[in-house]
Amino acid sequence: MASSASSLEDLASRIKTCTHCGLCEGRTNAVPGEGNPRAEVVFIGEGPGATEDAQGVPFCGASGRFLDELLGSINLNRADVYITNIVKCRPPGNRDPLPEEKAICAQTYLVPQLGLIKPKLIVTLGRHAMHFFLPNLKISEAHGRVFRRDGQVYLPLFHPAVALYNGSTRGQLVEDFQIIPRLLEQLR
Ligand code: SF4
Repeated sequence: MASSASSLEDLASRIKTCTHCGLCEGRTNAVPGEGNPRAEVVFIGEGPGATEDAQGVPFCGASGRFLDELLGSINLNRADVYITNIVKCRPPGNRDPLPEEKAICAQTYLVPQLGLIKPKLIVTLGRHAMHFFLPNLKISEAHGRVFRRDGQVYLPLFHPAVALYNGSTRGQLVEDFQIIPRLLEQLR
C-alpha cells in the first residue's frame, strides 16, 4: 500500500495540472500544500495570494512570516505541521473564492489530503476554511473555540493576513494560538 507521503505527492501532482475550475486560467503555480504527511495539526487557509502563486508554496508572503512567528510561539515549525488552503489556485486579484470553486477544490483535494494525514486537529484560518467544515458560524464568535464534528476536532482562528493589519485581531490570534498545544496534549 502507498505511504501517505507518496499519496500526498500524487495528489500534489494532480493539483498542479488541475483544470476542474476556472481558477486554473489565471494561476502561475497551483499550491497543493506542504509539511509533515503525518502532522497532528493541519492549518487551512483561504487560497494562494500573489507570492504563493509565484512560488507554489503556501503562506510564503507577509502572512506566512506571521504564521511562522505564531508557530514559533508554540514551539512548532513548518516541518511539524501541514499547511494548505481551501482552493489551491489563486483567485484573480485576490477576490474571495466562489462557492463552487471552494466546493469542487476542497472535495477533490482537501478532503483526500486530510484523509491521508489524519490530523488530530484541524485549525481553520479565516471564515472561508471555517465555513467548509463549520457552516453558518461567525468567525467573530467562533474564533478560539473548539468544535467536534463526526469525530474530528476543529479550532477556527482568524486569518493571519487579516490580523496583520488589525492590531486587536492580531492580539486575539496570538492569544488563540496558545490553545493549540494544550488541545493537542488533551487529544494525544
Ligand atoms: S482551484 Fe482547485 S479545483 Fe480549481 S483548478 Fe485549482 S486545483 Fe483545480
